Amino acid sequence: MYSTDDHQPQQERSEPCPGTLYLVGTPIGNLGDLSLRAKYILMNVSLVACEDTRRSRQLMKKIESKAPLISYQKHNFKSRQSQLLEMLENNKSIALISDAGLPGISDPGEDLVHAARSNNHEVICIPGPCAATTALVISGLPSQRFCFEGFLPKKQSIRKKRLKDISQENRTTIIYESPHKLIKLLEDLLIVCGKDRPIQISRELTKRYEDSIGETIEQAHSYFITNKPRGEFTLVLGGNENNQKESEISEIEALEKLNRLVKQGEKPNIAARNISEETGYKKNWLYSKLHKKFDK
Ligand code: SAM
Repeated sequence: MYSTDDHQPQQERSEPCPGTLYLVGTPIGNLGDLSLRAKYILMNVSLVACEDTRRSRQLMKKIESKAPLISYQKHNFKSRQSQLLEMLENNKSIALISDAGLPGISDPGEDLVHAARSNNHEVICIPGPCAATTALVISGLPSQRFCFEGFLPKKQSIRKKRLKDISQENRTTIIYESPHKLIKLLEDLLIVCGKDRPIQISRELTKRYEDSIGETIEQAHSYFITNKPRGEFTLVLGGNENNQKESEISEIEALEKLNRLVKQGEKPNIAARNISEETGYKKNWLYSKLHKKFDK
């Protein structure tokens, strides 16, 4: 049980279960965000697999957990996997945590989950903070549909293609970036998305100097040119609105609207501008179609 206090949540079933892999969400800054259930699991599992044992030891110390720690990170995850699977086979319970946030999001967690599932071990998530969704919900940008890119690829050719795809994406996009590469990323986004694309950059979420910088790529870029990026950053980029409108209305429908407006007496260039704003099709393209029709 977490607590005998009536106001504390009670566990649904006896945890941790033997032979189970727990993905435990840990704070991305504020220790108060560690849930009671997460704390309980971290105190009672047979083993905690983490990215950096020195870093996670601080968390374990704060919650007074004596569970042993083992490193599981990008340099050793392949060799560690068989060891961890053997422990699950022997009915030990394992908690997987990342340096911060939800394990499996931009860390090697997904491989261990895949391996555990393939070997018929139960996998349970103890949900917790995640920088991506935390930044998204405070951005003020559309959150009904969104996509997560995490860190962009390092290889230049793949990165260039990914940036192009992101610029065309009509959903809100979430990107992780380290402080020393932030300005370069904003410069690249300025080129592919243009200066006016909405963006909100969350800095140091849940920490003392939490901040949000926007509202356009150009404004955010100017800000970081004079304020050196320090801390952790998550970028929330608005979708490509032209693509949104184009996907909602066909070319034929847009041209019909345009013709209707002109027939009602509107000047062709004004009609083309209005329909362009309404549908997202380029004003010059609409105007040219109008003239073709009249030339016939
Ligand atoms: N698993 C983590 C999660 O669920 O958020 C993400 C791990 S990823 C290796 C680390 C990146 O997440 C950082 O480089 C930064 O882009 C973002 N991040 C983590 N903590 C953050 C914070 N407090 N504020 C803003 N971004 C953060």
